[in-house]
Amino acid sequence: MASDARTLLTDKKSELEEQMAVLEEPPGSPGEISFGKRIGEGTSIAVDRLSQVAVHDQLQVTMVDVDRALVKLDEDTYGTCDVCGKPIPEGRLEALPWATLCVEDAAKR
Ligand SMILES: [Zn+2]
Repeated sequence: MASDARTLLTDKKSELEEQMAVLEEPPGSPGEISFGKRIGEGTSIAVDRLSQVAVHDQLQVTMVDVDRALVKLDEDTYGTCDVCGKPIPEGRLEALPWATLCVEDAAKR
């Protein structure tokens, strides 16, 4: 069970790293972007960048949880809440293997 969780977490970690690398790639050269530019296009590019930043932030938050869950595996506290120490329900861990908080404490975060 514990080794399954580790596999899940390391898989998720490399998936996150890949997704973040894609988001961190610089957009096409400025020449390409301005070529054939129409009114309104600049706005949609700005919005795209903003949502990319939001996605990137979200990935980073998940990454912190994945790293923490891996440490918890080493500490043998995996599956217990970081705040109150109570066991995290199995269903929650199945849905979110990198959960480090129980539902109650996660809601407070
Ligand atoms: Zn808790």
